[in-house]
Amino acid sequence: MTLLKGKNILITGASKGIGRAMATAFGREGANVAFTYLSSIEKGQALEQEIQALGVKAKGFRSDASDFQAAEELINAVVSEFGTVDVLVNNAGITKDGLLMRMSEEQWDTVIKVNLKSVFNLTKAAIKPMMKQKYGSIINITSVVGIRGNAGQANYAASKAGIIGFTKSVALELGSRNIRCNAIAPGFIETEMTDVLDPKVKEEWEKGIPMKRAGKAEEVANCAIFLASDLSAYVTGQVLQVDGGMLT
Ligand code: NAP
Repeated sequence: MTLLKGKNILITGASKGIGRAMATAFGREGANVAFTYLSSIEKGQALEQEIQALGVKAKGFRSDASDFQAAEELINAVVSEFGTVDVLVNNAGITKDGLLMRMSEEQWDTVIKVNLKSVFNLTKAAIKPMMKQKYGSIINITSVVGIRGNAGQANYAASKAGIIGFTKSVALELGSRNIRCNAIAPGFIETEMTDVLDPKVKEEWEKGIPMKRAGKAEEVANCAIFLASDLSAYVTGQVLQVDGGMLT
């Protein structure tokens, strides 16, 4: 399949989970894929080879998305290696859950820095080459929790809600430059991030989902293909929920 043939795509946090699924799905659609990882070095290196085997260009970079300077260096490295950045997917994210009463300043600051500041860092650096070529699609991975809130995740929910405001603002600022900016809000998706949840909590989540099951990372990746491709050429400023109907 060739929906993304010739496009150069950068995804943050692709060593596992949703990021990994997007990186391989994009490669299968003919895109050249640059991606980042931070702590999962071996997984990142293995992914590079897996995507290259699809017959496209692929390169993994060890880079901390929450570091402003590192983000700028990363975009420069990707541009010199790939020529340009057509699509940026801000996917890197973490959780540090706890009820507000017990939440430390460190839990708050770290989640805001990794989940929200990273989106600012990468987007700010990537729009330079995108403005030059008058083309770009930015996809930010938020969460249904950013729309609805979630007890025990005030930090995470705030970071994800912030991403939605940021996404809409960038869409308004850069639409005239042919740069689109959309968000995907996954619901409950089976990845290492959700593996740590108590089975009873998972059961409760699933009960509340009209489709009565958790989603798969590949199902999020399929929606990202749409937003990365020219099939969505007139779509910007939107939040696409991929949640089995959870927030309906
Ligand atoms: P995951 O399996 O834990 O993967 C997270 C990825 O982010 C890893 O590749 C990790 O890389 C990377 N990462 C973390 N901190 C980073 C940093 N500072 N710089 C660069 N990369 C970093 O999580 P996931 O479930 O796939 O989640 C992916 C995104 O979807 C997140 O933004 C998450 O909030 C969002 N989301 C997930 C769900 C869900 O149900 N799973 C639902 C809604 C939204 P290393 O391991 O190499 O450090």
